[in-house]
Amino acid sequence: MTEKTAYLRDRLAALEEEGLYNTITTIEGPQGAWLSVDGRDVLNFCSNNYLGLANDPTLVESAKAALDQYGIGPGAVRTIAGTMTIHDELESALARFKGVDAALSFQSGFVANLAVIPALVGEGDVIISDALNHASIVDGVRLAKAGRKIYPHTDVGALSDRLAEAGAEGAERILVITDGVFSMDGDIAPLDRIVDAADEHGAMVMVDDAHGEGVLGRGGRGIVDHFDLHGRVDVEVGTMSKAFGAVGGYVAGSSEVIEWLRQRGRPFLFSSAVTPPDVAACIAAVETLEASTGLVDRLWANAARFKEMMSAAGFDLGLSETPITPVMLGDEHLAREFSRILLDDHSVFAQAIAFPTVATGTARIRVMISAAHSEADLKTGAEAFASVGKELGVVA
Ligand code: PMP
Repeated sequence: MTEKTAYLRDRLAALEEEGLYNTITTIEGPQGAWLSVDGRDVLNFCSNNYLGLANDPTLVESAKAALDQYGIGPGAVRTIAGTMTIHDELESALARFKGVDAALSFQSGFVANLAVIPALVGEGDVIISDALNHASIVDGVRLAKAGRKIYPHTDVGALSDRLAEAGAEGAERILVITDGVFSMDGDIAPLDRIVDAADEHGAMVMVDDAHGEGVLGRGGRGIVDHFDLHGRVDVEVGTMSKAFGAVGGYVAGSSEVIEWLRQRGRPFLFSSAVTPPDVAACIAAVETLEASTGLVDRLWANAARFKEMMSAAGFDLGLSETPITPVMLGDEHLAREFSRILLDDHSVFAQAIAFPTVATGTARIRVMISAAHSEADLKTGAEAFASVGKELGVVA
């Protein structure tokens, strides 16, 4: 340790004082409805493993077979070391699943946003972004040299005003960006009205479908399918780390968007590709979704059941329209205390979410429902919430 970094000690202490210090739980086995934490089985309400695929035997077998065929690493960036057939297979599968011309994989969904936004727009252009868009969109916007305008969360009237302003200011190109499903609130962007507004002003539309794929649309094909907007959304960003159970990201769209990213997407050009086992697992995930809607149907039935029990217990579930179920608490300390008691006394792992992930004073516990949960799991979880809610005076 050098004295030059000592200022960080004070900053860390301040985080603790303000209830903003993140403690990271160590889990001792695979992701599933239940986890092993400190040798104890705890109910998992934290993961984005929407469909239970993170430890699915078919995906695991596919990953093992890919290790045997391709080894562990991709060698270098694809433009230098070449591209493995398995990456091409994944990209064809993703394009087919999303109903677009082409797709390109990236190291993560975060990186996909950092790649695509600065590649599409620059000086003389304007980006118009929802106020609650994910941090990776915010950072992608910062990397682009375009002008920026933010519209209040899902307010399409305000978006139209910003579009008109950008046009009046002489923007060469306008890019509207929205999350599909907002990760901390679980509400769905009004993408149909966003696309109509953008069309009126000749603006491109990009949607981050990280929490929509495997969840919304026919068999989990995502938000564009949910609103039947095929052919009207210019760019879709996705992740393989949530419903698809693996890790990695992708961009899906027209062949010219994808070819441009191959030529000028900086994380594609300067960072190595996702490893073969992740790619194979993701291909297996897409095939699983194409074969049956069973898991997606189960996810929605589980979410409806859990929300019904939580609403009956008196909890405020905010804006949620999806399996993302925020339990709104407001105060940061209260949210962390609630989460701690759930884990210590009830073996329920449900994470408190506070600033900077959500605005100050809007702390919550975000419950992530999965198709992997049983009816008994959902009941156990809702009863634990009701008990802690009464203990802390949150519900009567
Ligand atoms: N976009 C959104 C909306 C997300 O919620 C996330 C993950 N939290 C990401 C992108 C990043 O995905 P990944 O974990 O693949 O980097």
